[in-house]
Amino acid sequence: MNHYFAPLPLNHTRMSLQLNDVLEDSLLPELPELKVIAEKLSTLLKGETIIQASVNNPLPIHGTTVDEFKETLQGKIIDGFEADGKFLLIKFRDDFEIIINPMLTGRFSVRGAGGRPSASDIFRLRFKTNSLWYSDRKKMGRVYLVSGHDYTDVAEFTNRGPSALSPDLTLKEFSRLLQRRRGEIKNILRNQRFVKGIGNAYADEILLYAGILPFRKRSTLTPEEIERLFHSMRSILTKFMDVLRERTLPEITLENRDFLMIHGKKDGVCPLCGGRVSEITANRFKTNFCQTCQK
Ligand SMILES: [Zn+2]
Repeated sequence: MNHYFAPLPLNHTRMSLQLNDVLEDSLLPELPELKVIAEKLSTLLKGETIIQASVNNPLPIHGTTVDEFKETLQGKIIDGFEADGKFLLIKFRDDFEIIINPMLTGRFSVRGAGGRPSASDIFRLRFKTNSLWYSDRKKMGRVYLVSGHDYTDVAEFTNRGPSALSPDLTLKEFSRLLQRRRGEIKNILRNQRFVKGIGNAYADEILLYAGILPFRKRSTLTPEEIERLFHSMRSILTKFMDVLRERTLPEITLENRDFLMIHGKKDGVCPLCGGRVSEITANRFKTNFCQTCQK
């Protein structure tokens, strides 16, 4: 069965979030979440002037002092928000940017102009009528203030591959970049040096849709399988972005990924064949796959 032509089932049912059921590695935002968060924040805040920047917890802020951070940002005008792989960029109308690697629990919210910070809040940008808050419960994320597009101090930002959704990433280029990589195909897909934006959860979804087992060695993939993998990557990321666009910013921030087909669904039902979902844990990352659909 050629899964590339199979319809993509999307579960639009809102299930209540049960924290105990959510796998930690499923919480990491990947390109679809960050792209939609960036779109929504741009709609809300583009053109706004920062009246005051405040820092509640300096720990995740790297490469600049708290005073520099606050003073530099005051008066800056938001030009927009952009997702860059698994990073979120806040761009200003000069050459300054805030680069954020949210990791597991970095979250964005837009609240009223006032309000007191909570223990998980890192910084706040206050505008005339509202504020952007960046929070990080586990404080694993990293925040950088950068000027002149100098990203040398931003950890894991340079030397990455093209975006998984870049129009310049053609099938031909994807195949060429893939030929340079060794090892299991899921590990390659998750490697930001190959393409940027795919993490543990979406890699499982892409491989199910492509009909390829996650543990297959890259060297064993046929040209037809590589083509299926490429189109599956594009379909999955694009269609899940469409689902996320229908949700509000707080709903996306909850990371309630009830639309995923297979990742985090151990012993659940594969939506493509009705078979049982398998799970293997390696290096604290869970991998889910279907033994019927994936070869
Ligand atoms: Zn299946």
